[in-house]
This record gives sequence, structure tokens and C-alpha cells, in this order.
Amino acid sequence: MRAQPKASHYINGRFVDDEQGQPLEVIYPATGEVIARLHAATENIVELAIESARAAQEQWARIRPTERGRILRRAADLLYARNDEIAHLETLDTGKPVQETTVADPASAAEVIEFFGGVVAGYNGEYIDFGGPFAYTRREPLGVCVGIGAWNYPIQGAGWKSAPALAMGNAMVFKPSENTPLSTLALAEIYTEAGLPDGLFNVVQGFGDVGAALAGHPQVAKVSLTGSVPTGKKVLSLAGSQMKHATMELGGKSPLIIFDDADVENAVGGAMLANFYSTGQVCSNGTRVFVQDGIYDRFLERLTARTRKIVIGDPLDPDTQMGPLINKAQHEKVTGYIEIGKADGATLHYGGGVPQLQGFEGGFYIEPTIFTGVTDEMRIAREEIFGPVMSVLSFADEAEAIERANDTEFGLSAGVFTKDLPRAHRVIAEIKAGSCWINHYNLAPAELPFGGFKQSGVGRENSLAALAHYSQLKSVYVETGDVDSPY
Ligand code: NAD
Repeated sequence: MRAQPKASHYINGRFVDDEQGQPLEVIYPATGEVIARLHAATENIVELAIESARAAQEQWARIRPTERGRILRRAADLLYARNDEIAHLETLDTGKPVQETTVADPASAAEVIEFFGGVVAGYNGEYIDFGGPFAYTRREPLGVCVGIGAWNYPIQGAGWKSAPALAMGNAMVFKPSENTPLSTLALAEIYTEAGLPDGLFNVVQGFGDVGAALAGHPQVAKVSLTGSVPTGKKVLSLAGSQMKHATMELGGKSPLIIFDDADVENAVGGAMLANFYSTGQVCSNGTRVFVQDGIYDRFLERLTARTRKIVIGDPLDPDTQMGPLINKAQHEKVTGYIEIGKADGATLHYGGGVPQLQGFEGGFYIEPTIFTGVTDEMRIAREEIFGPVMSVLSFADEAEAIERANDTEFGLSAGVFTKDLPRAHRVIAEIKAGSCWINHYNLAPAELPFGGFKQSGVGRENSLAALAHYSQLKSVYVETGDVDSPY
């Protein structure tokens, strides 16, 4: 299996490399084999990327937004047309099954690029009337923005960050996760093919130090990171020390609350989506599943029966529903948490093992895992595991569910399943989380803001809110009479 790109980085409309850079091996998580060898960016590469972005951005910002949008929409069309080819690449990069990547990864990036290409021309400042004098506001681009991606949704993350940035007249230098460097290069080629001027979307590879070099670069106006809370704190501090704009999409330990009156099959389907999709490597996952006493037994019975049917295996087989975790370190982390759960007294209700799959012995597989008998204090109920490990907890009434759901340092997401709609809205209003669902889970359409409260981050991706985060407001007061001066 090979997926070697033409070179490691994409700068000023072409592939470039610097073999002085630290070696970066791309590993197919299903087998553990090396599928590409790249180099992390050297200082020289970082400078080239920032400088070409800076040079290209000035002209780009002057282009009519309708024309910028047209280029983005063309890129979206190319992405849609190449969906299966890029989904295949994303599967090699991440190990996620093609059953998922063909519907969720390039398609989500394309949808967001299409959305921003469409709305940007209608996103303008305001006119403010002072009864004669007036004022208006301008939404101006920030300049060079840096995007830093996580490994669970590589092309989606690159699309979610670059589309609003470019639509608003900025340039973006993007550093994918060192674990998943490939698909963002494909996106860069598509932007060029769609007519995006050279330098506006540059991709540089590397580890955390390259991310820090980009985020701390004096020519950079904004940094948008998707990653863990500890990384978010470092990057936000760095950005803050230089008064840069920042968006942080970080981790979570989100609650999913299932009331007695919920449709049990929908609730089970929601809980499985909230824990097992992408082998549980989703920031917004609802890993604390609170189930009301009256529905608890029936829910657990159906959850177990449906979880038993999950097909684990070859990610390139269209029937496979669950692939491996991203790498060995993540595998050790997740199996470690399963041991912690057992040691802390939770009941391992289902899974917890490492499946033995012929031909995939070197892969980082783990069974979908369900713990019952979990208490709120246990580490598996408090810390982000980032694997397919669901904790099922029971509760008696609404007030208890709300209090326990909110008892976390995180605040990315939450879900409620109930047929009682006044209760659904009442409960969601009390939950301290940014991205919430009623009777579904984990949908992230382009039109809806996405982001967290508390430790889960600052700023929002998608929707018009993202255009605000990739622009700055200029207020212009206009006098139509004489200057009334006391001097
Ligand atoms: P991570 O924090 O280890 O790395 C994220 C990115 O930051 C990588 O590209 C990494 O190279 C870079 N990085 C690391 N140290 C850096 C530094 N000091 N300065 C600048 N960049 C640095 O996260 P990960 O393991 O790749 O991803 C998993 C985490 O991401 C989980 O916590 C998950 O919840 C979170 N996540 C959040 C969202 C969201 O939208 N809220 C989406 C996906 C993943």
C-alpha cells in the first residue's frame, strides 16, 4: 500500500520539499505499514509559506466577494466530483472505513466550502443612522491565518478552516496533524485547479513545534486550532501574548440524556453514533450516556444487541463499519482507560478487547466498549478517552440529569432524547455546552455554528459566525454637517 504525495508541502501553488526536515512517516492504521514518507517543515519552509501567503493576500482581499465565492464553489464541485478518490485517501490516512469517509469527510469539506462560497457576498457591514450623520461598518479580512488540524477529520478540518478564511479575503497556512498529512495536500491541489491564486492556501507538514512556529509568527494575524485542551491552552496563550485572533476547537466529555419516553431505537442509534463513529475519535462524542431508570433495561438490551452487530475489519471493505484507532499511542491510551474503568469498579458490560483480524495483525483495533455501573467520579466518566468507550449511567429525574450532565470541565456538546418537546428545550437551555442536539447526535451541517463552552474552546466554526471570526470590524463615522467644536 503506497500513498506517497509528490512532496511534503504545498506552497505558492506547487509541491515543495526540504529534506533537511525531520522525517515524518505516514502509517496506515489498519496494518501499521508505512504508506508515505514526508519531511516536517524546516524554518525555511515555514518562512516561504508565510511570505507567499502574505504576498498573495493583499490582492485577494481586493477582489469582489462574489468572485472569491465563485472560486470556492468551483473547488467544492471538484471535491464532490472526486469524493470517492479522496475518501479512499482519507481512509489510508486515518483508518476510518470507506463506508464513513465516502459520506462524511470530503463531502463535509465540500459542503462547507460551497456554503461559504455562496454566502460571503451577502455578508456585509451595517449602516447606522444618526439623523443626518451616519456610520457604516466594514468587515475586513485579518490577513494571514494559520489553521492547525487534528487527525480525526483531516480534510474536513482543513475545509472548515480554509473556507471561511478564504471567503473573507484572508490567506491560510494550514498544518495538518502529523498523523494525517495526506488529504489536505489533495485539497490544496483542488483549490489551485479551481482557480485560487497561488499562495492563498499553503500546506506545511510537521509536529507541534511547526504548529507553534506558525502560530507565533509575527506575520500571522489569527490561529485556528482543532486539538486537545492542553495544546489549546498553549496555542491560545501564544496567540494571546501577541494579541492575535484565535479560535480553539478542543476536546469534550459530553452528556447524552435519554428520558423514559424516548423512542428506544432512535435513542440507541443516537448513542451509538455518539460513541462509535470514527472508532470513537470524535471531539463532540456523547460519552456519558445518562439513561432514565424506567427505560434503562430496555435501552441496554437493545444497545448491546445492536453493538454486537457492528462489523469491524478492513477499512477498504464497504461493509466494514468500524476501523482501527489512529496509532499505537492512541491504542495504548484507550486500552489503558478500559483497564482504569475496570480497576475503578465499573462493569465492563460489552467489548473491551482487541479483535484479532487476519491480515490486520499490525492494526490498532479495539472493540466497541460499553461500561455500566459507572459513577460520575470515575476517570472514565470525567476524562476524554477519544475511543469507542461508552459509559452508561442511570438517573431518576430531570433536575438530577441536568446537574450531573453539567458537572464537567468541558462544554463542547450535549444531546437529549425525549418525545416531550417542552422538556427537551428546557433541558438543553440548562446545559452548558455549545453544540447540542435534540433527538439526534453529532450532525454538523455547514449552516450551524459549531464550537464549545468552558474548556472545550473559544470561537465557532461554520455558519456566518465563522465569517465574523475570520474578519475584523471597521467602524466609519460620516459627518454630513459642520464640526461642532468647543475650541
Ligand atoms: P493534539 O492537541 O495532540 O494536536 C492537534 C494539532 O496541534 C496537531 O496538528 C499538532 O501537531 C498540533 N500541536 C501540538 N502541539 C502544538 C503546539 N505546542 N503548538 C501548535 N500546535 C501544536 O490533538 P490530536 O490528538 O491531534 O486530536 C485529538 C484532540 O482533538 C481531542 O482532544 C479532540 O477532542 C480534539 N478535537 C476537537 C474537535 C473540535 O472541533 N472541537 C474536533 C476534532 C478533534
